[in-house]
Amino acid sequence: MANASILIVEDEPEIAELMQFHLAREGFSVKVLASGREALGQVDLSAPDLILLDLMLPDLDGLEVCRRLKRNQQTRHVPILIVSAKGEEADIVTGIELGADDYVTKPFSPRVLVARVKNVLRRMETEPAEKTGRDDVLRLGEGALVVDVGRHVVTAHGRTIDLTLTEFGILQYLAKHPGFVRTRDQIIGAVHGGDTVLSSRTVDVHVTALRRKLGDLGAMVQTVRGVGYRMGELSLVTDE
Ligand code: CA
Repeated sequence: MANASILIVEDEPEIAELMQFHLAREGFSVKVLASGREALGQVDLSAPDLILLDLMLPDLDGLEVCRRLKRNQQTRHVPILIVSAKGEEADIVTGIELGADDYVTKPFSPRVLVARVKNVLRRMETEPAEKTGRDDVLRLGEGALVVDVGRHVVTAHGRTIDLTLTEFGILQYLAKHPGFVRTRDQIIGAVHGGDTVLSSRTVDVHVTALRRKLGDLGAMVQTVRGVGYRMGELSLVTDE
């Protein structure tokens, strides 16, 4: 992970420099481009390990860049971390639904930026294991919360928690990718709650019930204002 290549697509030089400085210091190999078209050309030539993508770009906006990269077989696997200004929550939701992996809002703390980047790269490294089915038992919060996907059992501090099918589905979906925000529509798409028809509003109701049942570990199911939910990790820095 240390020498992973990162492409920063950002048209504000001071912000690009700040990101480059902190990521290079972590040992990443960093390249900066200031336009969406240049970025598409560069990724076509040589795909980086991760792209930090600003949304407000002079020529082609970030969402369009994201859409094109995720539509192209050659580039769709490259993880994208959206960098957006506060108040662009609707665009963040669109970006994540287009396939972006996570986001950071400006102004960001360098610590949060580095943590998010490492989290995305770590997830890319662990992805093959998940595909072989070895992630059947998910352990979170340093083992305090265990989601046994195969047996449909959840334990909190070793105590079995009785969840509805929908609550289990939401928890499992979020727990598979700790630290990654998921929109309500993504949760609805992923969770098939038997006869239950989910809407944005009912997702919130189920999450509230889920948190209550999890007791002190319920706080790990974090609300990301204006965007959706994420499974918090005790070790992960958050900026909410
Ligand atoms: Ca910009």
